Amino acid sequence: MSGFLPYGRQTIEDDDIAAVAQALRADFLTTGPTVEAFETAFKQKVGAQHAIAVSNGTATLHLAMMALGVGEGDVCIVPSVTFLATANCARYVGAEVVFADVDPDSGLMTPAALADALARAGERRVRAVLPVHLRGDVCDLPALKAMASAAGAVLVEDAPHALGSAGAFGNEAHPVGDCAYSSFASFSFHPVKTLATGEGGMLTTNDAALAAKARSLRGHGMVRPAGAEPWVYEMPELGFNYRIPDVLCALGISQLAKLDRFVERRRALTARYQALLEPMSPLVRLAASPSWSDPALHLLTVLIDFEAAMTTRAAVVESLKAQGIGTQVHYIPVHRQPYYVNRYGLADLPGADAWYGRCLTLPLYPGMDDGDPERVVEALARTLGL
Ligand SMILES: *Cc1c(COP(=O)(O)O)cnc(C)c1O
Repeated sequence: MSGFLPYGRQTIEDDDIAAVAQALRADFLTTGPTVEAFETAFKQKVGAQHAIAVSNGTATLHLAMMALGVGEGDVCIVPSVTFLATANCARYVGAEVVFADVDPDSGLMTPAALADALARAGERRVRAVLPVHLRGDVCDLPALKAMASAAGAVLVEDAPHALGSAGAFGNEAHPVGDCAYSSFASFSFHPVKTLATGEGGMLTTNDAALAAKARSLRGHGMVRPAGAEPWVYEMPELGFNYRIPDVLCALGISQLAKLDRFVERRRALTARYQALLEPMSPLVRLAASPSWSDPALHLLTVLIDFEAAMTTRAAVVESLKAQGIGTQVHYIPVHRQPYYVNRYGLADLPGADAWYGRCLTLPLYPGMDDGDPERVVEALARTLGL
C-alpha cells in the first residue's frame, strides 16, 4: 500500500522546475515579460479578451470589487458555502454581504436561492452577485445573470475550483473564465487548485475598461499618461501592490500547458470514484452535478448520512486518517463565522446547513494512482460498516 493520500496536491514536474530555474536567471524576478505571457496564454485558454495575473486569488476578488466601484452602501450577494475570501472581498471595500443559501445536494447557489437573497437585500443597492462554481460544477450562469441584471447588479464568478470546467448554455459550451455572463471571473493557483504557482491568481474579463482599471489597481493605482516624459506616473486612484512575480508566472505558463492532461486525469479519476461509490447510495452519494455542467472537478466531495450510518463525521475523518487517507470539509458555511454573525446575526440558510452536515471531500489530484480511488472507497466502506 502506498503512502498517505492528501485530499489535494499539486503536480510539479521536472520541466516546471526547469522553467522556474530559467526565470530565476533572467533579468526580471517580478513584472517582466513572463507576466504578460502568462496572461496571454491564460486568456486564450479560457476564451476571454483580457486576463490580469495577480498575487493570489483573494487579491483578484478585491481588485474586481474595486474596479467595479463597489463600496460603502452597496450589497454583494455571496453563497454561504464557499471559502472566506468570496465574502471578505466585499468587506474590504466597505460593502455589506447578504449570504445566499445553496442547493443542499450540489452546494451551488441556485436562481431560487438568489431570489431569496435579493428579497433579503430589500431596498439596498445590490452591486454584485458572486456565484461560486463549487467543486468545479458550474452554476446556472444565464439565469443568475438575468436575475442580477434585473436587480441592477453584475456577476463576478469566483472560479478557482472550475478551471477546465464548462457550462453548456444555449447549445454552446462555455469554458469557465470566458465571462460570457459575468464582468469578471477569478482564479487561484494555490497548490491544491488545478494549476499551482504557490501563491497566485488570475482575473479574466471581456471589458477593456474594467481590465485597465484592475491592472492599474494591481500596481498602486499608478498609470503612465500618454505622451508624458518617461519617468512620469500618476496615481488617480488608491491601489495596492498585488503583483505576481515573473518567476511564478514562468511556473504558471509551464503548468497551463498541462491543463488538458490534468483535466483528463481528474475526469478519469472522478469516473472511477463514481462507479465505486454507486453501490453505497443513498448512505454515501457524490455531490450532485447540474445537467448543464461539464466539470473538471477540483474537489471530490461526497455527502454522507452520518446519522443513518450511526457515526459522526469526526469519527469517519479519524478512521480514514488512520488508514492513510486525508479528507477536508468544504466548507463551514461562511454566514456562521463569528465575524459575520457579529455583524449580521445568524441568517437562516437551511440548504447550506444541510450541505455542511453531510459533506466530506476525498482525495482527488492528477498524481493519484489508478488504484487509489478503490483504496479510498474501500476504506470508507470499511469505516461505515458497509
Ligand atoms: C482558493 C479560493 C479562494 C482564494 O484563493 P487564494 O489564492 O488562496 O487567495 C477564493 N475562493 C475560493 C472559492 C477558493 O477556493
